[in-house]
Amino acid sequence: MQLTKTNFIQYLSCPESLWLLKNKPEVYNQYKGEFSLFLEKLIKEGYEVEEYAKLLFPNGINLPKNSTPEYTKKQLISNITVFFQPSFLTQKGVFVRIDVLEKLANGSYHVYEIKSAVSVKKEKLEDACFQKYVLQECGYTVSRISIIHLNKEYVRQGVIDPKELLEITEVTEQIGSIYSAVVNDINAASNIINKEVINEKECSCKYKTRRNHCDSFNYFNKDVPEYSIYEISRISVPKIELLVDNNQLSILDIPLDFKLTTKQQAQVESIRKEEVLINKSSIDKTLSNLKFPLHFVDYETFPTAIPKLDKMSPHNHLTFQVSIHTMQENGELTHFEWLGKKIEQPLEMLQQMQDFTDLTGTFISWYASFEISRNKDMINWIPEFTEYLNYMNTHMFDLMSIFSADYVDYRFHGSTSIKKVLPVLCPQFSYQNLEVQDGTMALDTWGRMVTDSNFNEDIEQTRKNLLDYCKLDTLAMVEIYKVLKQLK
Ligand code: SF4
Repeated sequence: MQLTKTNFIQYLSCPESLWLLKNKPEVYNQYKGEFSLFLEKLIKEGYEVEEYAKLLFPNGINLPKNSTPEYTKKQLISNITVFFQPSFLTQKGVFVRIDVLEKLANGSYHVYEIKSAVSVKKEKLEDACFQKYVLQECGYTVSRISIIHLNKEYVRQGVIDPKELLEITEVTEQIGSIYSAVVNDINAASNIINKEVINEKECSCKYKTRRNHCDSFNYFNKDVPEYSIYEISRISVPKIELLVDNNQLSILDIPLDFKLTTKQQAQVESIRKEEVLINKSSIDKTLSNLKFPLHFVDYETFPTAIPKLDKMSPHNHLTFQVSIHTMQENGELTHFEWLGKKIEQPLEMLQQMQDFTDLTGTFISWYASFEISRNKDMINWIPEFTEYLNYMNTHMFDLMSIFSADYVDYRFHGSTSIKKVLPVLCPQFSYQNLEVQDGTMALDTWGRMVTDSNFNEDIEQTRKNLLDYCKLDTLAMVEIYKVLKQLK
């Protein structure tokens, strides 16, 4: 079975998940979650960065897409010195397609790996090392290795100059120091994908926190029950290890004298008693500090590796949509929404938002640091709205914070996501019937609609789907707020 660079990177983060992908792809795909849409976007962005990187090598030639290692071999003996996408395959079945390969005067090679990141992480050089290994195994000498990555300081002004957008960092020495260890890993990865069987009854994440689990966790750990120990907020690895070793996987199995923080204890108690634990006086106090009118606000944004507009830097988020539900003290509710039609700074959106809310009352969002960061970015790009955006940021309340401390409900499964809280508090509202289900889907849909000339879905319907999704996000906050206000 062939081992590619992508496979190897997956192996480094988890051998079991690579084995499943290679040996039972249908099972792997069945467990694959929404994250894959995000990965697809990252891959597309990688291609875009690659196109700019190629401009750094005016003498380079593109080898045909999907061309074979045999084809590469023939090209390497020509007079050409720079090749894009040459491929190599070792006798043991290790395959690589190299981003840029430069033939040096002494006959050795300089490998360039293109990354969409804004820096080179020394501990993340295994993929570059993988390329050296394959070339050397195929009989070529690699004397230099460099990473081409985005320049963190870059600020777009007009047409992009690839020499300013990108930086080249040589890593030949660092690769030398990790080379033999990485070769051992490559051999181990080749071995595992060719194994006919592995232990599919559990995987090593059984001893790790939920943050580390991938989509295949439930496949490998079928004995993990609902309301498992992994749902406990900020549970530490030593505590997980202790509980797993004692086969106490359910929160209900945790011994009464097991040491937990106060917050964790509240969560465990909520499940044990099937009760909701509410600190009503604290919630009342928090909510009474909010000044009317209350503006429930939510942005949708489109992050891009390559800055699309002037003043933007790599990986900045462009805000393309907003929904605001405004509640007056008498409960009256009004709604404002705006959805961009193209890649542009949301000047019109800010003007209309300001007309709608003015510099009044309190802005409320869920995970407010996201909206606050977008506002800070927009202050840089659209300074004429500085006063308004500063007002929003200094009068912003995070409704999610209530569910981190004062409202514990076992049915949230240890999460404070609005997608978990809403169906429990307001079962009549649901995201389930919406075409756009989450923020990743929203940015993917909008991005395709405004940038892809082959977008063939109904534009009016797509806009409606996006508007419906964002509107529900703010309406959900309104309804959750009402429930909190009516607590007995
Ligand atoms: S849950 Fe962890 S160990 Fe299990 S397959 Fe996923 S990444 Fe690998």
